[in-house]
Amino acid sequence: MTSEDTAILDTIERWLARDVRPHVMRLDHADEYPHEMVGQMRDLGLFGATIPVEYGGLGLSATTYAKIVEKIAETWMSLSGIFNSHLIMAACVTRAGTPEQKARYLPKFASGEIRGGLALTEPDAGTDLQAIRMRAKRDGDAYVINGTKTWISNGIHGSCFALLVKTDPDAEPRHKGMSMFIAEKGLGFTVSKKLEKLGYKGIDSAELVFDNYRIPAANLIGGVEGKGLQTALGGLELGRINVAARGCGLASAALKDSVRYSQIRKTFGKPICEHQAIQLKLGDMATRLQAARLLTYDAARAYDTGERCDMEAGMAKYFASEAGVENSLEAMRIHGGYGYSKEFPVERYYRDAPLMVIGEGTNEMQRIIIAKQLIERDRV
Ligand SMILES: Cc1cc2nc3c(=O)[nH]c(=O)nc-3n(C[C@H](O)[C@H](O)[C@H](O)COP(=O)(O)OP(=O)(O)OC[C@H]3O[C@@H](n4cnc5c(N)ncnc54)[C@H](O)[C@@H]3O)c2cc1C
Repeated sequence: MTSEDTAILDTIERWLARDVRPHVMRLDHADEYPHEMVGQMRDLGLFGATIPVEYGGLGLSATTYAKIVEKIAETWMSLSGIFNSHLIMAACVTRAGTPEQKARYLPKFASGEIRGGLALTEPDAGTDLQAIRMRAKRDGDAYVINGTKTWISNGIHGSCFALLVKTDPDAEPRHKGMSMFIAEKGLGFTVSKKLEKLGYKGIDSAELVFDNYRIPAANLIGGVEGKGLQTALGGLELGRINVAARGCGLASAALKDSVRYSQIRKTFGKPICEHQAIQLKLGDMATRLQAARLLTYDAARAYDTGERCDMEAGMAKYFASEAGVENSLEAMRIHGGYGYSKEFPVERYYRDAPLMVIGEGTNEMQRIIIAKQLIERDRV
């Protein structure tokens, strides 16, 4: 990391301590959108964290980005979702957009003037993305889009989405009929409902309906049909590194709280950290966190050097998200009844962590991706 990267991390740390930590419990329990924090995130440049400097972003490496995400997720995981899916949308444009699309959108994405996310999932298609039904039909110099997207992060407060559609529903193989658009809210593009969740509070998850929504052909990312799945999967490499970093953040918060609490809580005449059963848990939690971090940094390093990193990002996402789940449960056990209480943050880690197992490709799929890559990289 450069000294600039270290300075950014220090600034984030100060912001979290001053403007975020004191308000998290209230906002999370009220499931309230953190408007003020989003404004501060804009000022900090977080909406342009990985967008190249030439387009007004901070141009941070995936490694520095992962460290920022871990710090933020340690304080409130929901906040990292507000800029992560936005940055995946930006990554789709950066990697696959035409020069005109980059010039038009990336500066506004970087400043946070336009914020949004990634719209892939549909009511009948999540893991099997090639089964999506949303249809975009060419009509002169525009396309007409019909269909429904669900579970879209930032769906209510965001205004622009990288939208995966079918331009040729009969294509074989199916992915050749898939394309991606930069879709801004407008006539025919509405939010039909806010989705209620176990955790991941504060951030909006929504169902989006497209009813004869007209979009200029100039918004087809890359300008050619048939590249949509490839564009989405490219963006998800960064997304998986982000989810891995969020898993690390949760695993770390659970560990830190447990180390502190176990020194204060006494049973049988001594702090519970002096009982071996608790020490075994702390030892496992710390080792799991360290392994998760190393996998995450390794995937980020591969991404930064431009190497193919679907296997590395998959391993990091899989292991670190499971570490988040396991550490949050162990923290709850260590906190006893207080772990189950809304007066302590542990119950929030426990509600937030399982999303990391599902989002950006379920962990079942990550293991399948890892296995396929093992075979592809060592064919006999
Ligand atoms: C809070 C939240 C936020 C989200 N944000 C977004 C977002 O911003 N944008 C977006 O597009 N989506 C978003 N999603 C959707 C998320 O990406 C999907 O839920 C996820 O991809 C899984 O899809 P599914 O829910 O349809 O499950 P399904 O695909 O129906 O899978 C169900 C189960 O079957 C397993 N499975 C499926 N196929 C296989 C297979 N071949 N082999 C083995 N197991 C398999 C899965 O692993 C899973 O366990 C979000 C979801 C949540 C809960």
